Amino acid sequence: MGNREIIEGEKQAILQTFLRLPVALARGKGAKVWDEDGREYLDFLCGISVTNLGHGHPALLKAVREQAGRLSHATNLFYQKPQVELAAALLDAAPFAQKVAFANSGAEANELLIKLARRHGAAQGRNEMIAFNGSFHGRTYGALSVSGQEKLHKGFEPLLTGFRHVPLNDLKAVEKALSRRTAAILVEPIQGENGVVTATDAFLKGLRRLADRHGILLFFDEIQTGLGRTGDLFAYERLGKSCVPDAISLAKSLGGGLPLSAVLAGPKVADILAPGGHGTTMGGNAVACAAGLAQLKVLRSAAFRRSSERGAKTLWQGCSAIQKSLPKAVLELRGRGMMLGLRLAFPAKPVALACLDRGLIVNATADTVIRLLPPLNLTPAEARKGLTVLKACIAEEASKTAAAPSKPAANNKRKSK
Ligand SMILES: *Cc1c(COP(=O)(O)O)cnc(C)c1O
Repeated sequence: MGNREIIEGEKQAILQTFLRLPVALARGKGAKVWDEDGREYLDFLCGISVTNLGHGHPALLKAVREQAGRLSHATNLFYQKPQVELAAALLDAAPFAQKVAFANSGAEANELLIKLARRHGAAQGRNEMIAFNGSFHGRTYGALSVSGQEKLHKGFEPLLTGFRHVPLNDLKAVEKALSRRTAAILVEPIQGENGVVTATDAFLKGLRRLADRHGILLFFDEIQTGLGRTGDLFAYERLGKSCVPDAISLAKSLGGGLPLSAVLAGPKVADILAPGGHGTTMGGNAVACAAGLAQLKVLRSAAFRRSSERGAKTLWQGCSAIQKSLPKAVLELRGRGMMLGLRLAFPAKPVALACLDRGLIVNATADTVIRLLPPLNLTPAEARKGLTVLKACIAEEASKTAAAPSKPAANNKRKSK
């Protein structure tokens, strides 16, 4: 089967809930992937920040093969060495945390954060959470309800109640939304799905102060920002001692390409659930945990971090150069490390499709943003090669929109054609 047959088969057999790019990916190696027709692409998306070591990293393959051959699943009715090893490594990497809970997806990890917040606040009748406009926390009912995007809620009401959404980077608004019922604040250090919108350090530190003053919890959703994506192993690290979260959720890259998520729980929430208070059959699957451990070791090695910094530097320099040469098309660069958004003056989707056509995989989010999430070991040469394609595609789209009768580029809601 080639691309065409697979796309046709998908339309017939799979629920039509995804806006997929029009190729079927077949295999990958490092920063390269090939589709089912044998065409090669440079992967600047990593399955949305999942394959952070690139495709087919030897350390990951070895760990997966060995564990799959030994025991692939045990259920949480038993103790499991791969879970214990990965949990210990995560706690070593994130010393604020005292315990780890594993699950399968990001949404599930955030569900647990909601449960922890409510359990923690139960004695004082605190069961509400404050979250942020534009945030994305997943698609299950709790995670969906806490996500600050109305377009995702439409048609699925009634949602879970007890969530208040306020503008990001607006401490006054948070203060106003706080009440005697507030149990926790949940924030993405950088909003990925919303177009790489960064919470400022001052804002995050302010949230910590507010949470402490009111005796409530501060949770970070690090599902996209965690595991090296922003240059630090976790995005909270750069904030120093004055802003340590009470828990974080991890997913996406955690299993090195296999489904795995976790909550890292600090002292206030590490021991508040009793046996039977939460559970999952597949969560912390042995093969996924073995892969996660192998990946974490690579991510934390000094050599890997140095080479990642070099790649990120080339990427940022290249994107700045694109912005300088196309200032009317590229309005803003956002993000940190290997998580980068280029806000365009026009819809980003046609640019992403043009890039794909020329062998570069990027992602369009929030209507006008091109999001780059390349492998963390992207080489400077690969970065330059990808950005040459990106620049050409942005320039081409810019000349098209300039040639068209001018309409002000709508920043919020794009009207359907
Ligand atoms: C992807 C994502 C989620 C949801 O993760 P799933 O594994 O798709 O459920 C939640 N929060 C953030 C910040 C994400 O990027």
